[in-house]
Amino acid sequence: MRGVLRIINPYDPGIIPEGQVVNLSSNENPYEPSESVKRAFFDSIAKINRYPDASYSKLKKTISDFLSVEIEKISVGCGSSELISRVCDVVVEELDTVAVPMPSYSLYLIYAMLREANIVTPVFRDYKVEAEIFEELKPKLSIICSPNNPTGNKVKRKVVEKIVENSEFVLIDEAYVEFSDEHFLQFALEFDNVVVLRTFSKFFGLAGLRIGYAISSRELTEAIEKIRLPFAISGVAVEAAISAIKSFDYYADLRKRIVEERERMAKELMKLGLKVYPSYANFLLVKIDERAFDFLLGKGIMVRKIENILGLEGTHLRITVGRKEENDALIEALRSYLCESSAD
Ligand SMILES: *Cc1c(COP(=O)(O)O)cnc(C)c1O
Repeated sequence: MRGVLRIINPYDPGIIPEGQVVNLSSNENPYEPSESVKRAFFDSIAKINRYPDASYSKLKKTISDFLSVEIEKISVGCGSSELISRVCDVVVEELDTVAVPMPSYSLYLIYAMLREANIVTPVFRDYKVEAEIFEELKPKLSIICSPNNPTGNKVKRKVVEKIVENSEFVLIDEAYVEFSDEHFLQFALEFDNVVVLRTFSKFFGLAGLRIGYAISSRELTEAIEKIRLPFAISGVAVEAAISAIKSFDYYADLRKRIVEERERMAKELMKLGLKVYPSYANFLLVKIDERAFDFLLGKGIMVRKIENILGLEGTHLRITVGRKEENDALIEALRSYLCESSAD
């Protein structure tokens, strides 16, 4: 076995909820798919004896029209997770410097490690990324996440510009971008060294079907497409994704609810005296003591516990914005937790 496998920590998917719990742990869309997505899903079942279209041209055409981006600049993968791995495969040679600002998504480190890269993890308090270190490092690949998981904030446009200038390649993970007021797609269209990564898992609520896509130069797109797993996205998932884009208005309405709920929750949690990070995503990061997570679990509420990761000292909870009644349950549970612990 390769030595590097001994030092790779497994990706932490959180605890899989069992039974009746309020699940606010994985940043999923809390609503059901649109009726037409359900119909597309069921209608496509009759064809699961066949392989899906290997080129995924119908899916790419739909994404291409949706974003007004040439089809030759779109690659697809089994979740954007697969594409993180493929981008590393395409650009990173052994001992190349890969810069991954922290605190951010841990999956980047796993795939960069697998390439035997020289990984540098500059720490920025609350992911307030600055460009200077990239000017020094001149990384082969820089991986940034905006809005960032788990802090919820955006990287400043000026900083992205500087990172793009100073890196041979840049991967910008925009998994949560539909909940934000700013995106960086233009960088992938203007510069040959930038890959923008998107997913159907969050805004389009298809986390269970595994569809991601990337926008990059024709050359990078061709390379990614060449090495991705053939047939990794099922035909059923393809039909659901195409239908989801066609149901855009339905999802835009859900986004409105989610963003309104995010702002309401942030206010309520701040009223409880908690430190809440400003979020442009569908989750909130909250600083709290280490016993809160178990208390919430005891009340049947599952959130993500984030402890002692680079750049985020102490214990935090990453709370997905759910449906109104779920959010109310979370707020009430935290209220009684804070009452009880202040009574101690
Ligand atoms: C959820 C998430 C993704 C999406 O992963 P999929 O494989 O597309 O489900 C990608 N990046 C980040 C930072 C995420 O939080």
